[in-house]
Amino acid sequence: MNTDTQHDAQYAWKHKDLLDVSQLDKDDVQHLLDLAVSFQEINNRSVKKVPTLKGKTVILFFAENSTRTKTSFDVAAKRLSADTFSLSKSGSSINKGETLKDTGLTLQAMHPDVIVIRHSSSGAAEYLSKLLPCSIVNGGDGWHAHPTQALLDSYALRTVWGPDFTGKTLLILGDIEHSRVARSNLYLLNLLGAKVRLCSPRTLLPRQCGQWDCEVYTDINEALKGVDAVMCLRLQLERQEAGLLPDLSEYSRRYCLTKERLALANPGAYVLHPGPMNRGYEIADDVADSKQCLVLDQVSAGVAVRMAVLYLLGTRNDHLPA
Ligand code: ASP
Repeated sequence: MNTDTQHDAQYAWKHKDLLDVSQLDKDDVQHLLDLAVSFQEINNRSVKKVPTLKGKTVILFFAENSTRTKTSFDVAAKRLSADTFSLSKSGSSINKGETLKDTGLTLQAMHPDVIVIRHSSSGAAEYLSKLLPCSIVNGGDGWHAHPTQALLDSYALRTVWGPDFTGKTLLILGDIEHSRVARSNLYLLNLLGAKVRLCSPRTLLPRQCGQWDCEVYTDINEALKGVDAVMCLRLQLERQEAGLLPDLSEYSRRYCLTKERLALANPGAYVLHPGPMNRGYEIADDVADSKQCLVLDQVSAGVAVRMAVLYLLGTRNDHLPA
């Protein structure tokens, strides 16, 4: 990690928390993704552990379901030798009526260096960041933001497109209204120079999306023409009010990304999905299993990106006198 630490020493990382990508400028993002590249090298070794965060404590507080994000943060922290502790809604006192404030203060009293929080309320991570002195990482809050997902998506795209996304167009397809992934990606992809299109049924488009920096479509065939990548989103049924969709089979008939539809995009266009995938609804099997699909590259990028995030936040006070 010599070159990385030198590189890092020259870079003034100024953030206590990672609440959303919108707090980052282009230099922060390039620095974080470069750092993630060096951590990916560790992930490819036979012994995948470095002592960088030895003695640091990372708490994974997931009050909403998660497979990828939680495992990935856990693996990332352990590969940096941090101690990790997990708390979920079902096994905790949140189920006994404890407030977020009291849970946060209780966790802080155990002196963690970083708390990663996933919560169904938009703003939960920001609330804890103001309340607690330790670093807070937003692992997804309601419809609002999912910064490490957007960062890992850009990492995966960087490996195939290179660091400058100028001239590339990416389509985000599916349930935009309820998606924190779409919101964080829209900001980050624009920051890195890509053009972004959104496509979904009118009832799943956010009312304010006309003011966002993107083109908006309801016709999938039009939306796909000339794009270099498609990011499919899951229907977030757990956040939808009834009546937004006529029925699931009608949705998949009109919006599922099939091989035939993908052929309308630029040749070799890449396909991304944050997971979990509902095969047959938003993405067809033959697309999900194709070489163009980066889903597993996204998962692998997730560990490296989260190592970079935990490193930057977990070591930010190390230069201060003990
Ligand atoms: N895993 C992503 C999230 O937590 C996407 C999804 O759940 O559909 O937002």
